[in-house]
Amino acid sequence: LDPDQEYDLQVIVDKFFVKKDIDKQVLASLEHAMLVGEGFMRFDVQFPEDAEVDAIGQLEGFGCPKHGIIMAELGPHHFTFNEPTGACVTCSGLGTYLQVHPNLLVPDKTRSIADGAFVHQAFNYDPDRWDGRTMFSLAAHYGFDLDTPFADLPEEVVDVLYHGTHGEEFPIRQPEGARPVEKRHLGRKIRFDGIITRIDRHYRRYRKQGEAHSGMEEYLRKVMVERTCPDCNGAKLKRQRLLVTIDGQTIHKVGELHFEELRDFLLAITGIPEKQREAGHRVINELVTRINLLLGIGLDYLNLNRRSATLSGGESQRIRLSTQIGSGLMGMLYVLDEPSIGLHPKDNAKMIETLRKLRDIGNTVIVVEHDESTIRAADHIIELGPGPGIHGGKVVVQGELETILDSTESLTGLYLSGRREIPLPKQRRSLNGKFLSIIGARENNLRSIDVDIPVGVFICITGASGSGKSTLVNEILYKRLHSIYHDSRTLYGAHDELEGHENVSDVISIDQSPIGRSARSNPATYIKFYDNIRKLFASTPLSLSRGYTASRFSFNVKGGRCEECHGEGTITTQLHFMPDVEVVCPTCKGARYNEDTLDVTYNGKNISEILNMSIEEGVDFFADQRLINHKLSVLNQLGMGYLQIGHPATILSGGEAQRVKLASELGKLKRGKHNLYILDEPTTGLHIADVQKLLDSLNRLVDSGHTVLVIEHHLDVIKTADYVIDLGPEGGHKGGEVLAHGTPEEIAAVKASFTGQFLKEYLI
Ligand SMILES: [Zn+2]
Ligand SMILES: [Zn+2]
Ligand SMILES: [Zn+2]
Repeated sequence: LDPDQEYDLQVIVDKFFVKKDIDKQVLASLEHAMLVGEGFMRFDVQFPEDAEVDAIGQLEGFGCPKHGIIMAELGPHHFTFNEPTGACVTCSGLGTYLQVHPNLLVPDKTRSIADGAFVHQAFNYDPDRWDGRTMFSLAAHYGFDLDTPFADLPEEVVDVLYHGTHGEEFPIRQPEGARPVEKRHLGRKIRFDGIITRIDRHYRRYRKQGEAHSGMEEYLRKVMVERTCPDCNGAKLKRQRLLVTIDGQTIHKVGELHFEELRDFLLAITGIPEKQREAGHRVINELVTRINLLLGIGLDYLNLNRRSATLSGGESQRIRLSTQIGSGLMGMLYVLDEPSIGLHPKDNAKMIETLRKLRDIGNTVIVVEHDESTIRAADHIIELGPGPGIHGGKVVVQGELETILDSTESLTGLYLSGRREIPLPKQRRSLNGKFLSIIGARENNLRSIDVDIPVGVFICITGASGSGKSTLVNEILYKRLHSIYHDSRTLYGAHDELEGHENVSDVISIDQSPIGRSARSNPATYIKFYDNIRKLFASTPLSLSRGYTASRFSFNVKGGRCEECHGEGTITTQLHFMPDVEVVCPTCKGARYNEDTLDVTYNGKNISEILNMSIEEGVDFFADQRLINHKLSVLNQLGMGYLQIGHPATILSGGEAQRVKLASELGKLKRGKHNLYILDEPTTGLHIADVQKLLDSLNRLVDSGHTVLVIEHHLDVIKTADYVIDLGPEGGHKGGEVLAHGTPEEIAAVKASFTGQFLKEYLI
């Protein structure tokens, strides 16, 4: 059998004469047949000449007497794509399939085939080898030149190269100047399958057998992109499972419905047979109750087909919360860390309602939160502080809201009572007439919208959770610009055109991903002033007399570092079936360097003590070292003075990592460049006092000629923006439109904008 062909196969499992005492044999055959047919079987009855023809009678359950087909009783496992009984065979239930993307296969179309136009793993032109000879002969047969830039090849030729000769044969020829072709091959007629066809076949075999092929996956990822599975169209299930419908809808279609539509669908189901009506309604009621919980916390835009890996942290947290409320447990203690992240003020109000409900049924809810409306809603507030890091660790004040508001020591109270506030800018920057214009944005739920983003100002993208902000900013704007400035192979979200990219010189995303994967990465190495500190140590008299260079003070290379822990200060032991165990290195006791290295001191401190020094302390310690002092000051001004200079990247929070990256950008500000900086919710984890510091930093970037664009729900940030673009009106299929754009005052004047309505109070 050809693995690339589809066949219609029927297997004869058994034949028997109908007579007495064969029931056991028949039963065994039926079971066997159902197994072979994966839940389907077919029967054929032959009657004696004189029998009456309608002798088969009625078939109970799922069957068709006319075609003689019986289907096994359906169970829930037939409808789950995690089980082989339900999963689509082509995509193994993933719903997606990798397909070769021509742009990835031929990344640089100005190159010719002989000059390596194809990604080299896919095809490498070498006339001494079989593949090269085939290509040479193909070119001779179809009359194209291997030295022609790929972009100039005729369409028909490209089709042959990609998809083959479609059965046409051509003779093998001798490439000029290459090793002679063996006599028996010369002139032999062959076909060519095409390079894309070949990769597709590799992939299918790879997928089917799951065989470990070194480098295969990496190579595939290089030239292939994820597409909807052609067999199940993304439904993930075997085609026969999709023949089963409820009120005309397959299980996949039902999974596409947003939770609100799903509830309406379930409540409208008709035609449940009398016998099952009671059981059916019980199932429906159970489902509707759970969906109502999800709707209650602002998740109406999600659906059941949404992959959990694509949910944001806040969305996952809220789903878990809804299951807790659904359980109706009492006497529990719930702890939540910043549940307001990613929530529009409108949805945040629902979240607070949910937390109150948990309390009211007899639970205790503890929330770590900076969000003002959540703090105001609390029954009891505990403020820790007064400052960050070594300046904190005490209870500053606790009690009801009134106590906090009246407290003279509480920073939170200072802001909540309005005695201190983030001021409105005295004057907003005016637009310079230059824009980045996205035309026809239609990825995900975006409704073919045109968006003009002014450059040289501070912009906020706002809108309800799920309204399409991230899609517009990250999937389209960032990735498109990235493809222009960095990697043309970047695949961006669907849109018609991006105009005005010449108005910015680069795009930089300052996100919350870690600044490094090991304890050897830290703020000093990331911002690159650790090199200067090492040089300082190498220039001390002791280093000079011992011949130590700067690399002696690196923990990335052998020499000065502790070899027991390779400069990490800790040793990680991996245990089977248990979490890794980390212990302080017994040799260096966490100092990360060997004793000889630690002999060297600069102003009385050795290199290990410098790494443990707080950034704030470092500003003074390195006061006479201009560059180091400057970089440390930037970190300090961003409110990160409490971090250690050598704070391991592995224990920085997402928000801290983001601010280290921001500091890195601020530390290398140069005039004359017009970068676009993109930040997604930079206020995450920030006290309102630190939000002011963040805003100061962002405005410094703008004042140096850059454009700063943030996705943000924090109204104190939005109110200070020069320009706001509000998407909505709601999430998912109810979003995807530009509701309003302009200054915060202009947004507040738009009745249809939820953001505008909340913003009003902040503009007084
Ligand atoms: Zn039929
Ligand atoms: Zn499929
Ligand atoms: Zn060590």
